[in-house]
Amino acid sequence: MAVETATTTSTTMTPKVLIIGIDGLRPDALMAAQTPAIDALIANGCITLEASAAAETVSGPGWSNVLCGVWPDKHRSVDNRFLITDYQRYPSIFTLAKRARPQIRTALFANWGPIGERILALDSIDHRVSLQDTKNDEPQTVACVETLAHDPLIDLVFYYIGNVDEVGHALGFHRAVPGYIAAIESADALVARVIEAVKARATYLSEDWLIIVVTDHGGTIDLSHGRDIVEHRMIPFIVSGAAAAKGRIVGTVNQVDVAATALTHLNIEQLRAWDLDSHAVGLAADSGRAMMLERNLVCNGDAELSSPAAEPAGNRGVAGWRDIGAVSTLAYGAHADFPTAQTIGAPSRGASFMFGGEAGESRIEQRIDLATLAHEIDADHVSFDLRGWLGGFAQQRDLAWIELEWLDEHDGVVGRAELRAVTLEDRTAATGGDAVTMFIERSVNGAVPALSRAATLTLRFERSEGVCDGYADEISLVLHALSKPIPGVTP
Ligand SMILES: [Zn+2]
Repeated sequence: MAVETATTTSTTMTPKVLIIGIDGLRPDALMAAQTPAIDALIANGCITLEASAAAETVSGPGWSNVLCGVWPDKHRSVDNRFLITDYQRYPSIFTLAKRARPQIRTALFANWGPIGERILALDSIDHRVSLQDTKNDEPQTVACVETLAHDPLIDLVFYYIGNVDEVGHALGFHRAVPGYIAAIESADALVARVIEAVKARATYLSEDWLIIVVTDHGGTIDLSHGRDIVEHRMIPFIVSGAAAAKGRIVGTVNQVDVAATALTHLNIEQLRAWDLDSHAVGLAADSGRAMMLERNLVCNGDAELSSPAAEPAGNRGVAGWRDIGAVSTLAYGAHADFPTAQTIGAPSRGASFMFGGEAGESRIEQRIDLATLAHEIDADHVSFDLRGWLGGFAQQRDLAWIELEWLDEHDGVVGRAELRAVTLEDRTAATGGDAVTMFIERSVNGAVPALSRAATLTLRFERSEGVCDGYADEISLVLHALSKPIPGVTP
């Protein structure tokens, strides 16, 4: 498993993490509001307005995704009732961080009760301020400011603001609603006080604070959220501080990525046993030139980042990808009618593969930021190698294929490549008799088109009958620098 661990900018600085959670913060409204404190965080870091929440766009699953780093199929919070949950198996980063480093000091300041009483009920937290009145954000803000002032050893803080969501429910979640905009601006004033408290710490000059701003869901003018629509799922995601990359986050970012980003900054290695769906995003150490060449840029292209669904009917979120529809992962050999370890396919296939799931058509997408290589790409000095193992089931016609688009800085398409589906005819030809369940490796290579600043990889599945038995595994996109370094580009 390739989980990157970044080091902080200086070994003498103590890494610290502040996660600011603003409930019901719609990204376009954030941009419309006057928010000098959050603007300053963005200026000292990076942002995407297109991060994704899970399909269940309410606070229970949303904050569980953020704090536990796994999707609802694992923590099992799917609404605000918390009838069945599995925080024992999938605890929050507070518990994971303490398991890795028992002396780490943690703090929670929230006024939506279920965060403290349900999601974090089992966690040992050094400063636990869990209040009930989401309309009044003053008490937990005061507590947060005081703790930041008086606890020199605090390492990991989650600070939550509730009233933006309250106002959204009362007046509408939309940038055309003055009251909603005003609530965001009030939240920004609270953020300003907390940031001020961070900077006023006696030990601030020896600390390396990473500040993450995130929300649980968006919303709409109809006073609601909770549906699986873009306006409810699309969320802002900000990573700020000396260790943050600077500018726009172009790569795929999911709500669950808060966890790995925070742990990575704290120099806590993400253990495979934790089974997180989370990977670090927005960190400067991951975006350098050396991190872009001669290595697979596809996050979780091998489906091994986290555990697979237990059975083909399960729709397990595919970590690292924007997961739209029923695509899931499954272990080789999990079911008699699916590929096994003996199925013709990738020699080093790991434990799991991806398949289309119980939908006619579905897809997962991933964006890869290429901005670091802009000079070399525009000078025609970068080539690519896209590979993947694609397959299908017995005599059925279900398909899986991969589309690659090269995008310029305005997301205009400047080039395309494709890994063609392995059809029933392809599998028949490969066996010389009746088609069997198998994978065939596809590959395509060429020059990365000039002006490319990002790549979008889409793995598509289409069903002919039954469960969608298009299969995919071992997907990789590797870039190569073709010749001598370009003057002015530091390796
Ligand atoms: Zn709400």
